[in-house]
Amino acid sequence: MPYFTLNLLGIQAWRELHAELGSALPVTWGGTVEWTSSAEQAARQAEAVRRFQAWGYPIHLIDRQRLRALEKNIVPGDVTSIAHAEIEGSADPVLATEAILARATRAGAQVRYPVEVVGLDMQNGRLRAVKTSAGQVEADVLVVACGTDTPRVAAMAGLTVPLTRSPGVLVHTTPQPRVIDRIMLSPIGNIKQKVNGRIVTGLDFGPAAVETTSREHGEQFLERMSAVLPQLAGAELDKVTLGLRPLPKDGHPIIGFPEGRRDIYLTVMHSGITLGPLIGRLAATEILDGVQVDPLAPYRLERFKT
Ligand SMILES: Cc1cc2nc3c(=O)[nH]c(=O)nc-3n(C[C@H](O)[C@H](O)[C@H](O)COP(=O)(O)OP(=O)(O)OC[C@H]3O[C@@H](n4cnc5c(N)ncnc54)[C@H](O)[C@@H]3O)c2cc1C
Repeated sequence: MPYFTLNLLGIQAWRELHAELGSALPVTWGGTVEWTSSAEQAARQAEAVRRFQAWGYPIHLIDRQRLRALEKNIVPGDVTSIAHAEIEGSADPVLATEAILARATRAGAQVRYPVEVVGLDMQNGRLRAVKTSAGQVEADVLVVACGTDTPRVAAMAGLTVPLTRSPGVLVHTTPQPRVIDRIMLSPIGNIKQKVNGRIVTGLDFGPAAVETTSREHGEQFLERMSAVLPQLAGAELDKVTLGLRPLPKDGHPIIGFPEGRRDIYLTVMHSGITLGPLIGRLAATEILDGVQVDPLAPYRLERFKT
């Protein structure tokens, strides 16, 4: 339940950011539609939907007719149940990062890129400056948001951050005419279409079984997914990417000042896109206002202490 609430606050934070940045922020709303193709999966989905509804989340089981009304191009095949989570959305991570950096720059932030943190200058056990590939930067606090490199950077401050390897392969097309508006989670793979028309497909959000980024694999995967979205059959493959999700050992985020420290602030999580705008705001409150924010209490590094 606390992690559900954190994600709900995360969606709310995206809504607020979208209201502030408008069309500069590449995000689409309309929800997520997920369907199943066996009685067993349908039973699991019905149970999950009931649990989310009991938590007050807007998600409903819908029928094929409703799916067709929502997404006329989708061919779901044999379906045992369908759920629509209405308030969810999807963002283009790279373009959204650029829009947020532009907004931060207008607000007075200095962006230095590309620059690597290579060491820390500590004095009496406290951070004085960050050593970078472009020189030294004086700092009261270093926010470590380095994804899978977080353990390496945190180790410079004497901290151990336990992550697990979680690779994920995504297949991207070139920009296509708009064919879907929502995130589609089908039994054979997931599909979304970005604001710029590019269609992105992937197997699931768990660790990938195959880690190949060959064009052959990409083309085969588009062919497979064209059973669900026929327009993919004629779509041109742009690239296949292999990404490593920064997945903390117990699956949940690691956020905040480690015990006894006020100079290093950690932010590492596998749902960094969903949670990014929220965690940015909560981290700023903890760092600048010196408050411990309640929704972050379950996610401190100390829980891994043995
Ligand atoms: C296949 C796949 C599917 C995903 N699906 C979802 C999803 O459905 N929902 C979701 O919310 N998220 C998803 N993610 C996002 C992902 O899992 C992360 O949560 C997210 O990218 C974390 O963002 P971040 O900025 O913390 O880290 P990253 O995006 O990893 O960025 C870290 C940055 O730190 C930089 N860095 C590293 N070391 C240093 C150093 N020493 N000095 C300076 N800079 C450094 C890196 O160059 C990089 O730019 C997915 C990722 C993948 C790969």
